[in-house]
Amino acid sequence: MHRWSGNDVTAVPEELEELRNWQSRLRAQFPIVTGNPELVYLDSAATAQKPQVVLDAAWTYLTTSNANAGRATYPWANRTTALVEHARDRIKEFLHDPAPTRSSTHFTSGTTEGLRTIPRDWLPSYLADGDEIVIPEADHQANIAPWLEAQQLLDRQGVRIRILRMPYQAGSGDYDHRDLAELVGPRTRFVAATHVHHVYGADMNIHRVRRAVGPEAVICLDAAQSVGHLPVSVTDLDVDFVVFSGHKALALPGTGAVWARQARGPAFRPGGWSGTPNTVGIASLTTALDWLDAVGLGRIERWTVALTARLTEGLRHLDAYEVLGCQTSLAADSTVQRRRGIVAFRHREITSGDLGFILFSHGFMVRSDSHCQGSAGEKTGSVRVSLHLHNTPDEIDRLLSVLRTLQ
Ligand code: PMP
Repeated sequence: MHRWSGNDVTAVPEELEELRNWQSRLRAQFPIVTGNPELVYLDSAATAQKPQVVLDAAWTYLTTSNANAGRATYPWANRTTALVEHARDRIKEFLHDPAPTRSSTHFTSGTTEGLRTIPRDWLPSYLADGDEIVIPEADHQANIAPWLEAQQLLDRQGVRIRILRMPYQAGSGDYDHRDLAELVGPRTRFVAATHVHHVYGADMNIHRVRRAVGPEAVICLDAAQSVGHLPVSVTDLDVDFVVFSGHKALALPGTGAVWARQARGPAFRPGGWSGTPNTVGIASLTTALDWLDAVGLGRIERWTVALTARLTEGLRHLDAYEVLGCQTSLAADSTVQRRRGIVAFRHREITSGDLGFILFSHGFMVRSDSHCQGSAGEKTGSVRVSLHLHNTPDEIDRLLSVLRTLQ
């Protein structure tokens, strides 16, 4: 593999060179990107831009079939019902869930809502007095608050569960899998994990989490930053829940899903009357997943990881900046160079809020604040750059050159 050398941040490594034609054809399919050549969108971790096919799918659905699902028998209603059912199967397929398995898919408005349904509708029937659950306190609040609330809820019912904090290395932004293995015991029955960290871009290595917690514990995966960015296989990862946001995977806002395996615990059946589903969002989600599969998630991953490495390598030579989650080493061969499309950094003197404004004055749209991170995470704000396949090496180089002038 190509290695960066010295200060050479303008060279394009083989990885990017090889994928360049593929990428430029795909970039051209994002109207908001091509329509705003003076702007650079670097906030895909917050929400992703949509390719034309997704916009077309929403338009086509609304102008040919718009109706409610599962309620009437005229053709538009039938088509909508079929579309929703097809989307469930499509999600299973997208997540490499080999049919037929005892799994189910439930639509939500996004990861936050999806993660809330599990402690509300499933966890109480699974846990018993004295059981333990592991939660990731350096991760997104959406993957912390629901579990703390579940503990209180169960407590009121006389079921006391212990919360174990996922051990975590601030030096690399990764879980400490060895400490995790020490921490867990026979009563540890549930682990809330995150696939890719929303601030550090670290892949949390779910294989190692599984090895640390053993074969029996249920693993619930917050896949908000991995679905749509890299291949996610429930078979390979051996997880029991996958929760993601459709809007971060190129579909419309207000979409998301919970996939549940039902092998290590009772069946997951979200309670209550859920009302009219987001049919147009679901239509857009199916199309987004089709498009992502056709484009190739492996290639999307290679492209964004290579771009991220280009950015961290550039930052390595700029003393005024501190890259989060790698106080120990930013060396070219360190694992922090394998960030999944997300890098957060701060300037040693300019506040992150100001840096965000300055960067926008040059056309760069980044996220700058505390990034909804849990209490074990960063205490001060930072600027987060997050990428998708429409981003280019040239955009990274232009960003680095602005950052250089601010040294
Ligand atoms: N988990 C992670 C890791 C995230 O990055 C996000 C969004 N930033 C969420 C959960 C919440 O996603 P949503 O806002 O789509 O519900």
